[in-house]
Amino acid sequence: MSRRIEKVRTDRNEDRLEADLEKYRGKALELGAARAAVIPASEIPVDERVTLKCQIPRCFGYGAGAHCPPNTLKPAELREHLRKYRWAVFFVKDVPSAVIVRDKATIRERVAVYREIYRIVSEIESMAFYDGHYLAFGFGAGSCRHTFCGEEKTCAALEGKRCRHSLSARPSMEAVGIDVYRMVASAGWDIYPIGSGAKPEEIPKGTLAGIVIVQ
Ligand code: SF4
Repeated sequence: MSRRIEKVRTDRNEDRLEADLEKYRGKALELGAARAAVIPASEIPVDERVTLKCQIPRCFGYGAGAHCPPNTLKPAELREHLRKYRWAVFFVKDVPSAVIVRDKATIRERVAVYREIYRIVSEIESMAFYDGHYLAFGFGAGSCRHTFCGEEKTCAALEGKRCRHSLSARPSMEAVGIDVYRMVASAGWDIYPIGSGAKPEEIPKGTLAGIVIVQ
């Protein structure tokens, strides 16, 4: 279906911001999110200790991709950017326990569900951009090194080449210091800590999250 791209306005379509935010929330649900909410940007918890957890114990993605710490946006930088934004759309997707735990047998399903998060984020970010909220930006879940380039030996972007998935790949929420556990719990939704040693029978479900900071 073709769309009509509107002229840019200096107020970034302030008059219909509320309706647009609700439209993006609905889009997240339509694209497979289990729950979605419009939240003030000031309520996004950014904490350096989140990226500390990428380093200690060291995550496979740490330093291995352009969108993971220490190569990506720092929590302090994100905090500074967020001061200029007011609203975001946050969503979660439920994942079966057997898929979310680190098990080679389910790696294809796991990669597929992480890709779903990036797809929802990209779609909403693009909608917002064309609606005139042209400074919208979003974050996914996990590491693009695993989700998009798991079969590759290196991250192309770290070698100075073009990212292989430049429009889809982006940092995860946790890679830039957003405390996803706190955000989900604050929304009144369920989330469980799932470490490397977790077994499917120990957790009711997995939860992946994404966010688009709109305006
Ligand atoms: S090339 Fe692959 S690993 Fe590197 S930033 Fe792009 S998607 Fe991520």
